[in-house]
Amino acid sequence: MKTQVAIIGAGPSGLLLGQLLQRCGIDNVILERHTPDYVLSRVRAGVLEYGFVNLMREAGVSARMDAEGLEHDGFTLAFQGRRQRVDMMALTGKSVLVYGQTEVTHDLMDARRASGAPILYEATDVQLHDFLDGKPRVTFMHEGQRKTLDCDYIAGCDGFHGVSRQSAPQDRIRNFERVYPFGWLGLLTDTPPVEDELIYVHNPRGFALCSMRSHTRSRYYLQCSLAEHIEEWSDDRFWTELSARLPEDVAAKLQTGPSFEKSIAPLRSFVAEPMRFGKLFLVGDAAHIVPPTGAKGLNLASSDVYTLYHALRGACLDNRPELLDRYSEICLRRVWKAERFSWWMTSLLHAFDGDAFSQRIQQAEQDYYTSTQAGLTTIAENYVGLPYEPVV
Ligand code: FAD
Repeated sequence: MKTQVAIIGAGPSGLLLGQLLQRCGIDNVILERHTPDYVLSRVRAGVLEYGFVNLMREAGVSARMDAEGLEHDGFTLAFQGRRQRVDMMALTGKSVLVYGQTEVTHDLMDARRASGAPILYEATDVQLHDFLDGKPRVTFMHEGQRKTLDCDYIAGCDGFHGVSRQSAPQDRIRNFERVYPFGWLGLLTDTPPVEDELIYVHNPRGFALCSMRSHTRSRYYLQCSLAEHIEEWSDDRFWTELSARLPEDVAAKLQTGPSFEKSIAPLRSFVAEPMRFGKLFLVGDAAHIVPPTGAKGLNLASSDVYTLYHALRGACLDNRPELLDRYSEICLRRVWKAERFSWWMTSLLHAFDGDAFSQRIQQAEQDYYTSTQAGLTTIAENYVGLPYEPVV
């Protein structure tokens, strides 16, 4: 088999990149380790920055998202017995769209199927060869046979645990990591959201987040210890703890119901530098992870896709391969800003076992950033997403 771009992984990064390249006539093959059902079963992100929304439109896959996504002009921070709305629209002129990652993936899979472009599910033992200075090749097992895919470039879109980052020469890669001493316990339920917009809650018992996927489907999160076991969290225990952390007026109108998904995710900040090794490009979670406070993971994957798509267009269609040299530096500039914001939101809103001094500093930060126009604007412009840098 032969193609221009071999894409490893059919998560949102791989599918969106494949769709954009396909539309401008750049051949690509996607290799995915799991089945489509498995990929669709993962409940993850739900808040899309305007940059992501625009890229979905450019990719021609926005019809359902535009019809069903919920446009949010603001969100609320609740702490120390008070509530502050961050009016993103008034502060930045921009909004975000609430539309689940599962739906994004669904729409991209449908578009891939309709285009007829190749996507091989259950491709296992993927190995990357000769991408540093030769003609790249990808070998893998599929339908009981060992196969080879010759290509010009490899896009490593295979997430944090994928093979792409592991294949980079270990003496040329530098990892930066911060692991947090808590996780998020998430619950999905078919009950109406407690309010129309998201509420981020700091409480001495721990952080809580009221989020949603639609007018009838809610997603709630609780900060929890990493020692917790999901089977010890009955729905009743979850609702009782959530109510204890929410402002009283919010708790009073919370509509509870049976959950149909519950999971615990650890929180981590991680960046691998650089994001390019010869003709291998790391994209999305393969190169970086953020804690979910601030809703940046999926959105960062999208800005990497934007940058690689434009650099590959330059290289493949306009005879400008030098644009690929800019991929890593352009991505990392934005990645580190999103890492900073996600780390900062996590520090601002979670309960830490810190000393009394650290707790007062956290309270002062909450007060300061929410009581000045400058502070609120800083939060809003990061939340709606910093602009994408053109690849020129
Ligand atoms: P992934 O979605 O991880 O996709 C990678 C794909 O590659 C997978 O389909 C995988 O099966 C495949 N793959 C892996 N290894 C191989 C291999 N060797 N060969 C072939 N294929 C392979 N972000 C937010 O913005 N907001 C949130 O609220 C949020 N919540 C999250 C909750 C959880 C539990 C997790 C884990 C993440 C969450 N994120 C959130 C982050 C967001 O989901 C990710 O940033 C996003 O999925 C990144 O997309 P990706 O395509 O880069 O990677």
